[in-house]
Amino acid sequence: MAESNHATQVAARTLFTDLTGREPDGLWSAPGRVNLIGEHTDYNDGFVLPFAIPHRTVAAVGRREDGKGRVRVASTFAAEPVEVALDDLDEIFPTATGREPAVPEWAAYPLGVAWALRQTGLVGSGVDIAIASDVPVGAGLSSSAAIEGAAASALNDLWNADLDRTALARIGRRAENEAVGAPTGIMDQMASMLGEPDAAIFLDCRSLEAQLVPVGIAEAGLAILVIDTRVKHAHSTGGYGERRASCELGASIMGVAALRDVSVDDLPRAQELMDDITFRRVRHIVTENQRVLDTVEVLRTEGARAIGDLLVASHVSMRDDFEISVPELDTAVEAALAAGALGARMTGGGFGGAAIALVEQDAVASVSDAVNAAFAASGFSEPHIFTVTPSAGAHRDA
Ligand code: ADP
Ligand code: MG
Repeated sequence: MAESNHATQVAARTLFTDLTGREPDGLWSAPGRVNLIGEHTDYNDGFVLPFAIPHRTVAAVGRREDGKGRVRVASTFAAEPVEVALDDLDEIFPTATGREPAVPEWAAYPLGVAWALRQTGLVGSGVDIAIASDVPVGAGLSSSAAIEGAAASALNDLWNADLDRTALARIGRRAENEAVGAPTGIMDQMASMLGEPDAAIFLDCRSLEAQLVPVGIAEAGLAILVIDTRVKHAHSTGGYGERRASCELGASIMGVAALRDVSVDDLPRAQELMDDITFRRVRHIVTENQRVLDTVEVLRTEGARAIGDLLVASHVSMRDDFEISVPELDTAVEAALAAGALGARMTGGGFGGAAIALVEQDAVASVSDAVNAAFAASGFSEPHIFTVTPSAGAHRDA
């Protein structure tokens, strides 16, 4: 079982004891994720291939003894804890009226998880939740799913909800969609809940059927570099929602429930039926779905060394058709490829965040140097570059 970073565990526990004057009942953690391939396909009922990363969010959680049914959340990222009555959660997250929730945005993630669990009919009892994390925030590595997964795992145990990992992923997604108001798909939560060492999760986002696919990156003498551009994105606003709307429009023009039901062979007909922008959004989703299937096939038959071209094709499609890349991400991808990476692509929702590059283990330093140099030459701030290996999903740490 992959351990959370010791310093992160200590930080969560310390925050809890500072806040409450007692020891937590336990520590639960969930990882961030990198998506190997399959971007924006999740909410189109399509396929994705993410893996959990070693970076984790830890929640130190304890039942309250005051019997008042209150929940308090604190994070090392936030100056002030937030405390509310469980019974008030329905009013705090008034999804039907579309009002902004009356809590700071960060608190809507863990409180949204408590709310979503109660929506299943669970009552729950008062708890204190203290959160620490070493998942980079807003970098496209899904610190949001990590905080949801840690909170959901803790409350699942302390409230005896007995939900399985897929059900907990749905709870996290519901919190993110309805409590936070970010219209994201199910991929991040499934990767964070189901991750296993050395495996990617081949997920059918329609059926939620998940298969673990061994990636064999290290075996092949390769490494995956994450290049965090430090350009912050925000999913609850702007482009992400617009892309979703374009996909829904495209699906309705094609007369299907979701773009998952459109194949590469249908694209010429799609081009006749819709405006150019909608068509290019559709083409990205349809070809990206096929690239996920191809990547799984290539991993199984030829191994990690052979997936580079698929990664590059994915990036080009996101840059030109889906238009969710930014100059920093394009620079990261181009510089990595020019320095010998086998493949590279932006990962995550886009408009900032991180890129990944598949590189020879002994080229980690030279590719990193080349990317740093390209960023400096373009006048961009220095990126944060590190390697990741596929790691374990959510679990109780202590
Ligand atoms: P990403 O998931 O790519 O990191 P998101 O915008 O989806 O980016 O989620 C980031 C948001 O999640 C933060 O702005 C914050 O509100 C919340 N968040 C993530 N991790 C933490 C944490 N450890 N403590 C408090 N809030 C967090
Ligand atoms: Mg997120």
